[in-house]
Amino acid sequence: MPKNKNFRSVGFCVDCDKQLYLTRGAAKAVARLFPGEHKTPYKCPVMKQYFHIGGLSREVIAGTYSRGDIYGQAS
Ligand SMILES: [Zn+2]
Repeated sequence: MPKNKNFRSVGFCVDCDKQLYLTRGAAKAVARLFPGEHKTPYKCPVMKQYFHIGGLSREVIAGTYSRGDIYGQAS
């Protein structure tokens, strides 16, 4: 996957090991570049004014979701 797809990123969150996006809309636009990977925008738990995109397991860690049907996506 080409790394230059994160053109809307405004930085990198070392706490989450993820790109930072200014708005949920920007994160969502980037997430759409990864169809089928179930990437969705969620608020960074550390720098709360920014957003990340990620899979379900990350969101569970961030407390965004508490679904019980997560696959075993370790890291
Ligand atoms: Zn973060």
